[in-house]
Amino acid sequence: MIATIILKRGKEQSLLRFHPWIFSGAIARIEGSPAEGDLVEVFTAENSFIGTGHYQIGSITVRMLTFEPEKFTDNFWHERIVEAIKLRKAIGLMQNSHTNSFRLIHGEGDGLPGLIVDIYDTTAVIQAHTVGMYRNRQIIAESLMAIPEMQLQSVYDKSSTTLPFNAGLNPQDGFLIGELGTSWARENDLHFDIDWAEGQKTGFYIDQRENRMLLERYSAGRNVLNMFCYTGGFSVYALRGKANLVHSVDSSKRAIELTNANVERNFGNASQHKAFAEDAFSFFRKEEEKYNLIVLDPPAFAKHNKVLGNALQGYKRLNTIALSKIQSGGILFTFSCSQVVTKEHFRNTVFTAAAIAGRKVRILHQLSQPADHPINIYHPEGEYLKGLVVYVE
Ligand code: SAH
Repeated sequence: MIATIILKRGKEQSLLRFHPWIFSGAIARIEGSPAEGDLVEVFTAENSFIGTGHYQIGSITVRMLTFEPEKFTDNFWHERIVEAIKLRKAIGLMQNSHTNSFRLIHGEGDGLPGLIVDIYDTTAVIQAHTVGMYRNRQIIAESLMAIPEMQLQSVYDKSSTTLPFNAGLNPQDGFLIGELGTSWARENDLHFDIDWAEGQKTGFYIDQRENRMLLERYSAGRNVLNMFCYTGGFSVYALRGKANLVHSVDSSKRAIELTNANVERNFGNASQHKAFAEDAFSFFRKEEEKYNLIVLDPPAFAKHNKVLGNALQGYKRLNTIALSKIQSGGILFTFSCSQVVTKEHFRNTVFTAAAIAGRKVRILHQLSQPADHPINIYHPEGEYLKGLVVYVE
């Protein structure tokens, strides 16, 4: 028997507007004893049916999968995947000869809270962020394989670092279907080696694809610093954009190896590129103000609201240094991928950094995530990537 969640009086309002999360404080009682990852049906205090979701222990107790009185058959997954493909077709990412890697399922943005699926040519990499999605990984993999136009040969599960560790699942990464085929991505005709077994996220930061294109446009003749470079995405675009020099910095040695490999794969021996395995702050301390195009794309400084204040301090410090050091006439691309940092927080932080650095700064572009990371309008929390491109006098 499926367990039921009965909400406290009045707590259904956000759900009636299709917000997909139920917080523990909104629940009056649970009938039955659901295990983590089980489907549960949700009712108002007046016993009216709202929908069905995945149950999990934690502050977000239920993630809604549907607001219809729907039966959960294998077809549910198929239909959601088909819907996601339809959107990627509409935005020109399916069968695109310039780009073979994109996000197919973006959690709440594709009606599948807790699930990420990234496509790299003929491999799909799935990442479950909830127990419910993890328990369904095989069915999800089979549903992906069953769609002929995807032309997939393998599905890799990379959930070991994204599941709540207290769920005690002891997840192991590995192929659910097929085996290692191609391990590189084509993005706007550039090539990137993808290390999905060891790499961050699903192996690559697909979400910066369009922002990298914009950087390319500004790169000609500039001295570029790509701080927090990871696999060197921004560096490779800057080189194609005919930058005068490109320096890539990341504290991880492995990231620097990947960056060098990706530069070489695209341009052979590019003498205008150098990569440094070093901490951002220590690199900046030695830096002699030689750059006039700087990218700051740090890891998420805040993973939850409790550390928001510290995170904003971190962004302020970093941006103050970059804005102090950048040459006059320079352009700064600065990002935050912390979900709890809003656009307004981030803009205020860069404003404060500019004031402390005493520079005249104008905003050229306000950036976000690309269309294959869609934002469910009822779930504004899905807008996690924020960027500003500023001109510094
Ligand atoms: N811009 C990259 C993604 C950056 S992810 C892209 O487009 O692919 C953030 C990176 O910051 C990670 O590779 C991580 O190794 C690096 N990092 C984390 N802390 C750092 C620090 N203190 N100094 C330098 N790099 C750091």
